[in-house]
Amino acid sequence: MIDIYFTTFLAVMGAVIGSFLNVVIYRLPLGKNWANGRSACPKCEAPITWKQNIPVLSYLVLKGRCARCRKPISVRYPLVEMVTAALFGAAYLEFGFGSDLAASLLLIVTLVVITGIDIDHQIIPDVITYPAAVAGVLFAFSNNSPELADALIGAATGYGVFFALNWTYILVRKREAMGMGDAKLFAVLGLFLGWQALLPIFIVAVFSCFFFILAHALVCKGTPPKILPFGPFLSLGGLSCLFFDPAAIQSLLFRF
Ligand SMILES: [Zn+2]
Repeated sequence: MIDIYFTTFLAVMGAVIGSFLNVVIYRLPLGKNWANGRSACPKCEAPITWKQNIPVLSYLVLKGRCARCRKPISVRYPLVEMVTAALFGAAYLEFGFGSDLAASLLLIVTLVVITGIDIDHQIIPDVITYPAAVAGVLFAFSNNSPELADALIGAATGYGVFFALNWTYILVRKREAMGMGDAKLFAVLGLFLGWQALLPIFIVAVFSCFFFILAHALVCKGTPPKILPFGPFLSLGGLSCLFFDPAAIQSLLFRF
């Protein structure tokens, strides 16, 4: 019974934090101050009142349009809020209270922001990955899972694999395959989830990327996507391994 209250509490907290993450995703890459300053409609710049800023609900009440100019508001705003809410609730159910929950919430926040920014701008800012890495090291010292050695090996391997991939590609094709932001993200995932999770994360990322390209080709009648940031797929892999047993994911996907 208690669990229902706390799960709901975490989900509501997730929706509120998701609303803040929307601001970070929008403002951080533009170099705007994301910590304070009132939000405004990006089209008519009308300030958004607190009533119009209630996660998910305001979007429904306003029927997805700005209260002043009636221009459509991106469906991504309530989507980010709902996804963060669901992940926060699920994290409580999975980990209960404690430092494992704190680590998982921090990882969720990091991955949601990276996904949003990478989709919009094809970058994974250091200002997100570096603090996450520092937090990951601290959690590795204090938490039992993953063990400290596994976390540190995970970080080094995660970075190393993408570093090697990138250089191989540069040598062969004479241009960069992906930014080192992906390497740093993979290192952070290795820190939080241990080196054992890296291969399953990578497999989930490659599989989901493949299905995305396939779905895109079906919907858009054969045209491949113009740009394809890899961060969202790595994030999906990371979330899968946060909630499910990495070894089970690996054996499941290897059967294909
Ligand atoms: Zn407006």
